[in-house]
Amino acid sequence: MSAMPVCLYCQHINPLQTTVCCQCGMPLPALAEQATARRLRRFQWFCIGLTIFCVAMFFWLPRGTG
Ligand SMILES: [Zn+2]
Repeated sequence: MSAMPVCLYCQHINPLQTTVCCQCGMPLPALAEQATARRLRRFQWFCIGLTIFCVAMFFWLPRGTG
């Protein structure tokens, strides 16, 4: 059971599975949370990629032994 999305801007109660407010057209909180989660996931992948890049560079670059 999930709550009906209430608009943060005009307090209009929207039907389920609505992405924007029916009354004022602003994005609903549930969608904003999804966008935040997606951004967080992208940031995690960026960190993983950066780590892999650093490890690859560590092994690829000469280490000054010869
Ligand atoms: Zn609204």
